[in-house]
Amino acid sequence: MVDLLIKNALVLTCHPNVLTGEIHAPGAIAVKESRILEIGPSGPLEAKYADAAEVIDASGRIAMPGFIVTHTHMPYVLGHNQPVDVSQLRSFWDMLQKMGWEWLEDITTADGILAGTQYASLKMLKSGTTTVCDLVEAPNALPGPLDGSVRAIAETGIRAQLGYEVTERVPGVPIAERLDPAYAEEGFAENVRLLESLEPGGRVQGRLGVHTAYTNSPETLSRAREIAEKHQCGIQIHIAEIPRAFLCEKYGKSAPEVLEEAGLLGPDVVAAHCIDLTDSDLEILARNHVSVAHTPMTNSLGGNGVARVPDMMEQGINVSLGHDCFFTLDTAEYIRYAYLVHKAHRANPMLIPPFQALDLVLGNAAAALGLADEIGSLHAGKKADILLIRPDSPSPVGPSNVISYFTMTFRGCDVETVLVDGEVVVADGVSTHVDEQAVRKACVEQATQLWKRNGIDVRAQSINL
Ligand SMILES: [Zn+2]
Repeated sequence: MVDLLIKNALVLTCHPNVLTGEIHAPGAIAVKESRILEIGPSGPLEAKYADAAEVIDASGRIAMPGFIVTHTHMPYVLGHNQPVDVSQLRSFWDMLQKMGWEWLEDITTADGILAGTQYASLKMLKSGTTTVCDLVEAPNALPGPLDGSVRAIAETGIRAQLGYEVTERVPGVPIAERLDPAYAEEGFAENVRLLESLEPGGRVQGRLGVHTAYTNSPETLSRAREIAEKHQCGIQIHIAEIPRAFLCEKYGKSAPEVLEEAGLLGPDVVAAHCIDLTDSDLEILARNHVSVAHTPMTNSLGGNGVARVPDMMEQGINVSLGHDCFFTLDTAEYIRYAYLVHKAHRANPMLIPPFQALDLVLGNAAAALGLADEIGSLHAGKKADILLIRPDSPSPVGPSNVISYFTMTFRGCDVETVLVDGEVVVADGVSTHVDEQAVRKACVEQATQLWKRNGIDVRAQSINL
């Protein structure tokens, strides 16, 4: 007997990838415990599994694998819409130092991490993201900031890889003036504490976090590789999100060169941004089998240019999608932006077709996180991380056009039901795990308190407190 049979759906297996994956219309998925037992045409599977403990009739719905987002900072939601003095933000460097560090990360507390992560993971789940790779940055919440992240993730039911950002940056001190390896040590300790506390193969896993090549010494970068080897946890890091000149001035080398020399790079590395790269930098990423977390919206925000994603793909570099949690938490918007921006940038409509845009959050992302055998497609034996989507489309949606629906009109609010590990965590668009109003209220309260630390007191005027 199976635990669950999803029948009559337009099933996109996306296995081994979106372009060649089988489509069953109507199709069915049999789920036993946390895994997919069988997928196929609906009629025969309904007959075979007539005694299923639970049946979902998914007529009019698309069934597909859950989205995977490979680079986020969930507590960043506390900074959404913060009414700051934008005249101080004249470059990416200003944005990083003020909006990223001074006005947000350096004043983020443990309570803020808990509330922000609850809100972000809830919103992401509801819009179809079932796995996220999150990097927590809050130097004044050490030790213990990851405790809130783990609790929030467990409460909402999303799958996650989690790490704390190792950096030698001293809060409040310009990085060109001084770096202090003692801060990196605290960061390593936070990561190791998490890694040693988690069950292997659980829904929450650790992934060692490292900020950048320019905020860490070569010794710290080498040590990150040693720790990743010891714990077999992989590394997440930002690479080349700032103009190359910054690192060249310091070392006479690019970020990939510095990181390769330190021995940090490898197939277990997820590198966010990767914007300002030369041909030889791309070769370094390719020969070290590094996966890229492409973050097109935040790259645009900082005026940092457009990452060479088509060139990366040409060279066989695995590219996935991240979003920093800086704007909306709806992955649909990032899929669409990644689909469009390279066409505009290169004046070439043939770049990044819909199937490739969707692969960024499915198979490519699963491979980036070392989970290619577990998630990213619907296939017998894989985890039952499944979305049921009711398309809100002005035109027919069927097997011939369903892939382009995702770049054309899909929005996260079309996601109706979400399963993680075979468990329904969102039913009819509502979380089965948490009180959504309470989560939202706690997050708005924490954002209000964080803004107050910047001298912004909006409590009296707020319409949603
Ligand atoms: Zn980031």
